[in-house]
Amino acid sequence: MPGKDDDTTPSLPDPEEISRKLSEFFRSSFGEKVSVTAMPGVPGFFNDESDDDGEDHDIRSDPAASPLLDFDLIPKQIKAHLDRFVIRQDEAKMALAIAVCDHYNHAKYLRKLAEEDPAAARAVEFAKQNVIIVGPTGVGKTYLVKHIAELVGVPFVKADATKFSETGYVGGDVDDLVRELVRKADGDVELAHYGIVYIDEIDKIASSATFGGRDVSGRGVQTTLLKLMEETEVPVRNPQDMPSQMQAMFEMSRTGKASRETINTRHILFVVSGAFSGLEKIMERRLRQGSIGFLSPGGDTATEKDGGRKNSEEPITQDFIDFGFEAEFIGRLPVRVVCDSLSADDLFDILKHSEGSLVRQYEREFEAYGIRADFDDTALRAISAAAAEEGTGARGLMTVCERLLRRFKFELPGTTATELKIDGALVADPETALAAVLAATTPLGDARALGDVSAFRRRFEEDHGVRLAFDAGAVARLSELAEASGRSVLEICRERFRDFHFGLQLIRKNTGQGTFPVTAGAVDDPDKYLSNLVVASYRGNDDGGDAGKANDAGEATSEPVA
Ligand code: ADP
Repeated sequence: MPGKDDDTTPSLPDPEEISRKLSEFFRSSFGEKVSVTAMPGVPGFFNDESDDDGEDHDIRSDPAASPLLDFDLIPKQIKAHLDRFVIRQDEAKMALAIAVCDHYNHAKYLRKLAEEDPAAARAVEFAKQNVIIVGPTGVGKTYLVKHIAELVGVPFVKADATKFSETGYVGGDVDDLVRELVRKADGDVELAHYGIVYIDEIDKIASSATFGGRDVSGRGVQTTLLKLMEETEVPVRNPQDMPSQMQAMFEMSRTGKASRETINTRHILFVVSGAFSGLEKIMERRLRQGSIGFLSPGGDTATEKDGGRKNSEEPITQDFIDFGFEAEFIGRLPVRVVCDSLSADDLFDILKHSEGSLVRQYEREFEAYGIRADFDDTALRAISAAAAEEGTGARGLMTVCERLLRRFKFELPGTTATELKIDGALVADPETALAAVLAATTPLGDARALGDVSAFRRRFEEDHGVRLAFDAGAVARLSELAEASGRSVLEICRERFRDFHFGLQLIRKNTGQGTFPVTAGAVDDPDKYLSNLVVASYRGNDDGGDAGKANDAGEATSEPVA
């Protein structure tokens, strides 16, 4: 890897090691109050769920490995991809898909040209299609951009405009946004040149005191950002970041060359967004004053056409200027899209059809406790209606589900419950529903034994495709055996049910039965239990002693556990 040593020279310390050594030095010289931190990579510095793996990524530059040269998507493909995850927002999807295709086709073209004729490539004019998304919170603005970045294979960084100050980003510097792209690209500087920077809450840096503008320093922040959106060179190593500067120094002293790598922001795609509350009033006023179709000083009408959207009018440059943006700033954001608020029906569609649906998440979470959660449509409708009341878009779904299911998630694990039917009645009256579920189950007692049993059951199902449903008696018996022998419940399960799957798979073949109750009797004499079951399966009845039959949904007659 470039930048790494050959075999004979000792390897360079990385920024973390330098940081550690410096910290030790400073601490021993000046006490605890002085510390040294490497800025990019500090958890929480950027507000997306950082995929920081804690590793320092080497800086490398390998154009050949870039996904950009393979870019061959067309807008319809991008939209189709987004449709899988994002419900509604068709206009936004279309505008973003076009902007992204143009942007990356151009990037690809330039890179090819640069290989043949670098001077010509530098001379090519290109008006970047930075995007501004207007829309309330939780309607998919970030979600859209994140999925596009994933699809194209470029790094994506999200930040909040509220954290900017005139001098930079809280605790850092606006350029860190760009450097963060390098980190997200695993050190691939070349790829970082084509990343996507997403800045939310951009409306908060409007300088107007009348509308939404919180901060009079907004204008200064706009200027700082403007430079970044336009074209500027950002050093890959933060000049304020002492450890990474020292690493560069070590490198220079060894190689005799100063590493002056920079990222030019010319091809970074900027997407900014905000709720812009108050913007509708500005638009209404404009419309009332009869200036429909009025061309802003920027004169851009590209996205002002109504493509059949429900809200017939999209904001124009003048609206943003009236809101408190500098004309130069807003002029650098030629693609304007509006994301609509989501109705209860839309929220239902999100739960029911989106690939990233919360329902899947809840099913997985319950499944981890051996409980099959089953949402029916009446429940989804009721949850969506309640979420719509929250006024936080799709985020309301999480709020409602969390509130609704918290007690179930707390009370049911550790009982014999294996299934939870989430229907309209449960949503309407969760207390009563919980009481009913609990009345039909029994606690399992020893939490450690239960953990072992659940782990064994999950593994058994994964390996053999049949589900065991331990009842409370079985768990109690296993606990006793574990205590008496000084071994774990898991070990005992493994030993006692070692060959269980052969018989159970046979029964499943005979009868289609997929879930098998395990009782104390089964623990005591697994062979007898199994042979009874097998015999019963051939007879076509379930009179096999301990072998109470369970149906596929896991409803055992002998109060199964998990
Ligand atoms: P914002 O518009 O404030 O940027 P996000 O895009 O972060 O909101 O949305 C928050 C979460 O809500 C997303 O991670 C996604 O799970 C869900 N979500 C929001 N809008 C939609 C939508 N239109 N379709 C599907 N899921 C959505």
